[in-house]
Amino acid sequence: MRAAVMTEVKKPWTLKTLPDPRPQPGQVLIRIRASGMCGTDLHAHHGVMPVPLPLVLGHEPVGEIVEVGAGVNGLRAGDRVGVSWTQKGDGRCRFCQEQRDSYCPEAQTWVQMGGGNSELMLAWATGCTLVPQGLSDEAAAPIFCAGYTVVSGLRNAEPKPGERVAVLGIGGLGHLAVQYAKALGLEVFALTGSAAKKDEARRLGADQVIVAGDDLGRALLDAGGADVILGTTNSAVHATQALRGLRPEGRMVNMGLVDGAIQVDPMHFLGTQVRLVGSRQNHRRDLVEALALAASGKVKPAIEVYPLDRINEVRDRLEAGKVRYRAVIKH
Ligand SMILES: [Zn+2]
Ligand SMILES: [Zn+2]
Repeated sequence: MRAAVMTEVKKPWTLKTLPDPRPQPGQVLIRIRASGMCGTDLHAHHGVMPVPLPLVLGHEPVGEIVEVGAGVNGLRAGDRVGVSWTQKGDGRCRFCQEQRDSYCPEAQTWVQMGGGNSELMLAWATGCTLVPQGLSDEAAAPIFCAGYTVVSGLRNAEPKPGERVAVLGIGGLGHLAVQYAKALGLEVFALTGSAAKKDEARRLGADQVIVAGDDLGRALLDAGGADVILGTTNSAVHATQALRGLRPEGRMVNMGLVDGAIQVDPMHFLGTQVRLVGSRQNHRRDLVEALALAASGKVKPAIEVYPLDRINEVRDRLEAGKVRYRAVIKH
């Protein structure tokens, strides 16, 4: 199988032919059709998130099961699936007993198994989710990290009918957050520092776009505030500012890896009973919901599609902030 292999930190990934793997009991072998690239891949590339090397990256994989290991229930050869970040826990800790294996200290992920930047990929069957009809391989791939992250963020915000959601940052996560919040029938504001993204945010379905100058929170308050802020920015300054734009009892759900501490004004925090919530991929049902909404056509990931042999160029493009809004490798 041809694969893009990360062999050293900060060095181009190497295209290699590796031996075709065979599934062990409990595993499936997937012929990968599409593999999304994510900001986390940049963290691995730069050594910010240490991974054992050599390693095939790619945690937004979608493909067809070509072989099923012993003891796998439900999944069959020919099924179209994607694979979650967390594939399997140890089955013994408290979190596994609660079927929350993403908290398991021994959880198996793409870091142990290898990812989707390869023609073939092994995965634990328990990490696979069927891709619904009506969703292409390329469009489904970003749902397995970005879409899942965003829907978990929305669910963690516990939005009520009629509430207003402000999406902070219009990028790989944010462009999906606007669409998912809209698909749930919520009023959606987009908060961006870039005037160039105003029309795009509108096209994505935002009811109003706030292009903030010096103070995002002030700008949001001037527009009436928000019940929920979905934070997808990596700027701690912007996240800190935006927090002030919450209405009383509002929730700011932060799903971007911010570049510093989010500051809380103690008096504002106390007086308004706002909540600041950390969020990442949570219940598997959030992924299923994310896939279903995309398959229904209510959410359309904006993707750029490239062949595997351009993967280093794609990573550079992602790093330069040029991707609109998710890059997908098509095998
Ligand atoms: Zn990711
Ligand atoms: Zn466990």
